[in-house]
Amino acid sequence: MTFNEYLTDVVVIGAGFAGLTSAVTCAQHGVKVLVLEKMQAIGGNSIISDGGIAAAVTKEQNEVGINDSVTMFIDDMLKSGEGLNSEAHVKLLCMEAADAYQWTKTYLEVPYLSRVDIFGGHQVPRCYTPTSISGRTLIQQLKIKLESLGGKIITGARVEDLLFDDHKTVIGVKVNTNYRFRSNNAPVYQLIKSTKGVIIASGGFAGDVDYCHHLNPLIPKEMLTTNKLSADAQMLNVAQQYQAATINLDQIQCIPWTTPDESGYHQGGLFGDYIVSSAGILIDPATCKRFVNEQGNRKQVADQILNLGHWVLGIVDQSSVTQAGWDLTHVLSQGIVKAFDDWSTLASAYQLSSTELITTIANYNQQLMEHHDEFTKIIDQLVKPLVNPPYYVMRIFPKTHYTCGGLVTDLGGRVLNHHQPINHLFAVGEVTGMMHGANRLGSCSISECLVMGRVVGDVISTE
Ligand SMILES: Cc1cc2nc3c(=O)[nH]c(=O)nc-3n(C[C@H](O)[C@H](O)[C@H](O)COP(=O)(O)OP(=O)(O)OC[C@H]3O[C@@H](n4cnc5c(N)ncnc54)[C@H](O)[C@@H]3O)c2cc1C
Repeated sequence: MTFNEYLTDVVVIGAGFAGLTSAVTCAQHGVKVLVLEKMQAIGGNSIISDGGIAAAVTKEQNEVGINDSVTMFIDDMLKSGEGLNSEAHVKLLCMEAADAYQWTKTYLEVPYLSRVDIFGGHQVPRCYTPTSISGRTLIQQLKIKLESLGGKIITGARVEDLLFDDHKTVIGVKVNTNYRFRSNNAPVYQLIKSTKGVIIASGGFAGDVDYCHHLNPLIPKEMLTTNKLSADAQMLNVAQQYQAATINLDQIQCIPWTTPDESGYHQGGLFGDYIVSSAGILIDPATCKRFVNEQGNRKQVADQILNLGHWVLGIVDQSSVTQAGWDLTHVLSQGIVKAFDDWSTLASAYQLSSTELITTIANYNQQLMEHHDEFTKIIDQLVKPLVNPPYYVMRIFPKTHYTCGGLVTDLGGRVLNHHQPINHLFAVGEVTGMMHGANRLGSCSISECLVMGRVVGDVISTE
């Protein structure tokens, strides 16, 4: 069979943050770059993300008196990774994150909310969210910049295989240009040759819950996901066929702050992640008691909920919502979050013992007044007694969210086969596995996509 051939310098597989950032960087070097995206629209999981980026030692932190350091950021990521992440990769990310964040503001002109958020496992607030509270703006701006620099994107084009020469150097890809997700379209194959190399930026596989369960049976088969269902391991598996090494594939992050009362991660997820995690409490409906430090990292909190084996209740009061500055109109009108004027009505709505619930809340409030918490929660300005009705409640259960493991790469993003780079093969973003170990801290994936995307773009363009 003969195929049409197309020649470029660099092929990028996947048009999410990682792929588009590396493509823009290549194009800045004057390198001819082609991005292949299997879906009809670009963006992957990046476009449905909150767009939150973590970075230490920024102007925004300085303005509100937050004392942070790159060392503290590194410590937080290593602690959360439980020894399974590569210290060298973590250092690179933490050192470069502030510059990458600044790049999105000045070079890509992404506007951000004037607030600095904290998520579980970070010692201090260091997370910045675009005004759209979504990854959409950054994706749009990356696309505009790439095209203005002469880079090209083809959608509906799934890479099915890697091409090698006789010296085991990657020289291109085989792509199905008639790909439609979950349809039986007859494939139309094309060979795309690349003189400088191929960058795999195909994202994670948390959208394929069956595969997650296969790799880690502790993930229930029926668990829901925050990901697009197209987020799968197909491209990772192609690389594995050519002896690309992988690491930590069983480290699948379940985000604890999601609700079974909406699909994916939307306004309910934001309510859990931004308000309950920092200012609220979690109650086990079976006992009416708290069971975890709500400020714990995602893995700590999700593991505790999974141990219980059923949904729990996330509760905040009106002061927490006002302080967070969040508009709850949508979640309330959809019945995802419910409001109650007193504890007894709340208890009866969820068939809880009113007496036990009131006792739990009274104990919690008392502990905050005495500046100690039985779960060692840090009592900062966000954590206040729950005394101002209405009380807002959401049912909470984890969903698969992020795959911490993936391809083994060196600090230049070269894919390794037993410690040797596979010539001209690079990887970046969630498909890689060096950065987060046992658990990714909130907002650190986008920092990784940006930092490593720029690194890989520089390396492939200049080698
Ligand atoms: C709901 C949600 C909210 C999130 N919020 C945040 C946040 O605020 N901060 C943060 O740091 N992280 C967040 N994350 C995680 C973060 O968004 C992702 O880890 C990150 O965007 C992954 O970027 P990526 O470029 O590696 O992959 P993706 O954005 O998933 O892009 C990969 C692309 O590759 C394409 N592709 C795959 N295989 C092929 C193939 N064979 N051929 C061609 N194309 C292919 C896919 O279709 C996809 O478009 C969130 C995730 C979700 C799901």
